[in-house]
Amino acid sequence: MTTHDLAPAEAGDQPPPVAADVAPYTVAADADDAPGEHAVTMEAIVELCKRRGIIFQSSEVYGGLRGAWDFGPLGAALKDNVKAAWKRAMLQLRDDVVQLDAAILMHPKVWEASGHLEGFTDPLVECRTCNARFRADHAVQGDAATYECPRSDYSLCDFGEPKQFNLMFETHIGPTRESGSQVWLRPETAQAMFVDFAHVQLTSRQKVPFGIAQVGKSFRNEITPRNFIFRVREFEQMEMEYFVRPGTDEAWHDYWIAQRWQWYLDYGLRPANLRIRPHAPDELSHYAKATVDVEYRFPFAWSELEGIANRTDYDLRAHTATSGKDLSYYDQTRDERYVPYVVEPAAGVDRAALAFVVDAYRVEQAPTASGGTETRTLLALDHRLAPVKVAVLPLSRNERLVPTARAVADLLRPHLRDRDTMTQDRVRTDELVAYLTQRLRL
Ligand code: ATP
Repeated sequence: MTTHDLAPAEAGDQPPPVAADVAPYTVAADADDAPGEHAVTMEAIVELCKRRGIIFQSSEVYGGLRGAWDFGPLGAALKDNVKAAWKRAMLQLRDDVVQLDAAILMHPKVWEASGHLEGFTDPLVECRTCNARFRADHAVQGDAATYECPRSDYSLCDFGEPKQFNLMFETHIGPTRESGSQVWLRPETAQAMFVDFAHVQLTSRQKVPFGIAQVGKSFRNEITPRNFIFRVREFEQMEMEYFVRPGTDEAWHDYWIAQRWQWYLDYGLRPANLRIRPHAPDELSHYAKATVDVEYRFPFAWSELEGIANRTDYDLRAHTATSGKDLSYYDQTRDERYVPYVVEPAAGVDRAALAFVVDAYRVEQAPTASGGTETRTLLALDHRLAPVKVAVLPLSRNERLVPTARAVADLLRPHLRDRDTMTQDRVRTDELVAYLTQRLRL
C-alpha cells in the first residue's frame, strides 16, 4: 500500500496547533560552525567539573581511558535531573507516549535489518608518517586541532586512502568467540522501539499517533572522541519514536521540532546559543526523508544536541522484511491497515548536560560578609536541573556556629540565600515546606 491509498488525514491524526507559549525557533542561516566570541572556554568547564567532582576521566588512576568519563556525585545528580526533565516532558505530561527499557544486547539480525552492519561507518584515514588515525571528513577540514597529530604538525601528515570503519562495538555471547556468537553493543536505543512496536502498541492499547520513549546507554567506537563529554564512546540517549499515519508525518515533524526547541529554552538555554539546522539532502541518513539538528553554540563550535528525523516507514518495513513478522498497524476507526511513519527526536544526555553547564557558567564579583567583594564561580542552573536543591549554611566560618547550623538543618529552619540574587528570606518553620515547595516547583 502506498500513502496515496489512504483516506485523507483527519483532525485526530494531526498534531495540535503550536501552543502560544512555544517560542518560534531560529534556523541556521548558513552552515557556519564557528561559535564566535564565547563567554567561557572548554578548559574552564573541564577544570570546574574536575575540581568539583562533577565529571572526571574514567579510570584516572591508570591514566584514563579515551572517550570514557565518570560522573561524580554532583554530575550523576545533574544527569539524573536532565533525564527526569526529559521524561517529564515526553512521558509524564502526555498520555500518548509510553516508556520502554530494552536490553542493550539485541539479536544480531536487528543491525543487519537496520542497515547498521553495512552502513554505520565513518571514513577512517591513517597517516603514513605518524600512524595517527583520523576521521577523513574531519581531516579534510584543515584544522590541526581535529587531527590530534602526535607531532602537532599535521602539514607533514601523509594520509592514505580512507577506509570505512564500523562504529559498533563488537562482543561475543557465551564462552566461545566464534562468528555465531557475535553481538554488538547498541549504537542507538531506537531499534528496540521498532522491533517491539507491535508488542508495545497492543499491550499499552495506544492508537496511532503515539510514541515509545526510551532513555539508556549507547556505544559508538568513535574514531576521534573529543571535546570533553561531547563526543564519547559510551553515552546515554533520550530517544522517542513517534508513530504517525503516513501523510501526517511532515506536520508531526514540525510539531516535534517546536516541542523540543521549547524544552531546551524551558530548562534555561539562552535562545542566542540555540539554533535549528536542517540537513542538506546529501547529508541525510539512508532512512530519513528530512532531519533537523538542534544545535548549541559550544565554545568549540555550533554542534548537535539532538537530531529530529522523519524516519518514514523505513525501519518498520526493514524489520518486517528481515524477521517475517508483520509490523503494520490496523486503524480500527478507518478500517485500514498501514505501516506507520516515524518521527524521532533523538537527544544525548551527556551533550544536553554539557550545554546546560556551559550556559550556566558564571564568574561574578560577590559581596562578602565583611563588606568587601570576592570572585565566585557558579553554575546558575535551573533549579530543576541543579544537583543540590537546598543547603543549610552557617552565615560565618565561626566554629561556634557549626552546632547551631546542624540544629538548624535538623529543624529544617534555614536562612535561605538565593544563589543567583543573593537575597535572603527569613522563613518561619511552619511555613518552610510551603515556601520550598513553591520555590522548587517543577
Ligand atoms: P554526530 O553527527 O555528532 O556524530 P549523530 O548525528 O550521529 O551525531 P544521532 O545518531 O542522531 O547522532 O544520535 C542522537 C543523539 O545522541 C545526538 O544528537 C547526540 O546528542 C547523542 N550522541 C550521538 N553520538 C554521541 C557520542 N559519540 N557522544 C555523545 N553523544 C552522542
